[in-house]
Amino acid sequence: MGAECCSHPPDLNRGNAGYRRVLWIVLAINAAMFLVEIGAGLAAGSASLQADALDFLGDSANYAISLFVVGMALRYRATAALAKGATMGLFGLWVIGMVVWHAVHGTLPNAFAMGAIGFAALAANAASFALLWAYRGGDANMRSAWICTRNDVLGNLAVLLAALGVFGTGTGWPDVIVAAIMATLALQGAATVIRQSVAELRQPAAVPAE
Ligand SMILES: [Zn+2]
Repeated sequence: MGAECCSHPPDLNRGNAGYRRVLWIVLAINAAMFLVEIGAGLAAGSASLQADALDFLGDSANYAISLFVVGMALRYRATAALAKGATMGLFGLWVIGMVVWHAVHGTLPNAFAMGAIGFAALAANAASFALLWAYRGGDANMRSAWICTRNDVLGNLAVLLAALGVFGTGTGWPDVIVAAIMATLALQGAATVIRQSVAELRQPAAVPAE
């Protein structure tokens, strides 16, 4: 969710074939869940499902960066981070747009679809965490893995809570409120990533030697 979430992919096992295979699997899980939540969010009329999808997008980008960019020069890493931040920012703005649209039109999302997809997202995060667990290196990586998974699970629980709220109140407001909070956090995270990567690109060391 926040800027800290999943932003420190471990590179201790970079040359390890088993670790790379696990990265491919968690990349596939997270990319698939991003598409599922965006699609289900549109189909079920739920903004919070789409807001939760933002985290799967960010995590997918991190696993892709771990697979392809981590060993490269700072300029490439900063460019990849900038692309990730910009993509997350654009999708964050899209979700804010959905929040406004649903709020203005007073739509009623499908609470059962929200609950079902919310549970699938929880399972996907638990599976990713379990797969990566064996490859967590030192204490710092262990800690960031915990923080990252905790934040992801909190997001999934917020969606389930919104589903319960929609079911209980018969209105779309719980969905809209949860989505607005999650999208705002995602936009803050995207802004931090963009600021850091722009600063890295401006460093003198990032200029290729002549
Ligand atoms: Zn995450």
